[in-house]
Amino acid sequence: MFERLGLDWLLPLLAAPFIGSFLGLVIRRLPAGGAVIFGRSCCPHCDHRLGARDLVPILSWALSGGHCRYCAARIGLFFPAVELAAVSVAVWAVTALSGWLVWAGCAFGWTLLTLAAIDQRHFFLPDQLALPLIPAGLLVAYLVEPGSLIDHAVGAAAGFVALFLVAWVYKAVRGRQGLGLGDAKLMAGAGAWVSWVGLPSVILLAAATALAIVLVRARRPVLLADKVPFGPYLCLGTWLVWLYGPLVMA
Ligand SMILES: [Zn+2]
Repeated sequence: MFERLGLDWLLPLLAAPFIGSFLGLVIRRLPAGGAVIFGRSCCPHCDHRLGARDLVPILSWALSGGHCRYCAARIGLFFPAVELAAVSVAVWAVTALSGWLVWAGCAFGWTLLTLAAIDQRHFFLPDQLALPLIPAGLLVAYLVEPGSLIDHAVGAAAGFVALFLVAWVYKAVRGRQGLGLGDAKLMAGAGAWVSWVGLPSVILLAAATALAIVLVRARRPVLLADKVPFGPYLCLGTWLVWLYGPLVMA
């Protein structure tokens, strides 16, 4: 029944653009307080309340040519970009997973996407999104393989301790904050999903992609003082290791 109705692949794909709109609001509004997440959307230029036909993901933006229907102000690419990213996560989950795990994967991927975007824009990882990853990861691990629960619980603890120690050593050596406590909480969530076995791969992938992006984007010599959020790379590494397993040394 579940499969025949397409609930495991069609519904996540159809829901993705709308979830993406909501994630856009979360990314914009959570760092500013959060209570306003469920408030109605207004045009930031003319304050006109947006109606139903302004809120169709991607399509509204495309049909209006990227301008507000009321004051003709340009609307940035932010919302359509988040909506497209949410659709990409759903497509990725549908391709790599099956059954109820598609929904678990979508929820996981959308949460990681939101965390990554907030860290990229605001340099912090909100507890409201990072901490629920821990019980959710343990629950999914238990449902997939009850015997693996211990490994995933150890992973959550090890993830937190590992990043906490790195942050502590960095601060002791360099005298300023490098990694935040948010990174340690995110790593605890990652450990709950990929178990302790997957953690080294997550850190390796995150460090390698972060370094590659920094070097590619740098138009001048990279300074040690440059501020780079690590959260987005931890999110990407966690997602890849959860879907495809730890890196295998050949
Ligand atoms: Zn407007």
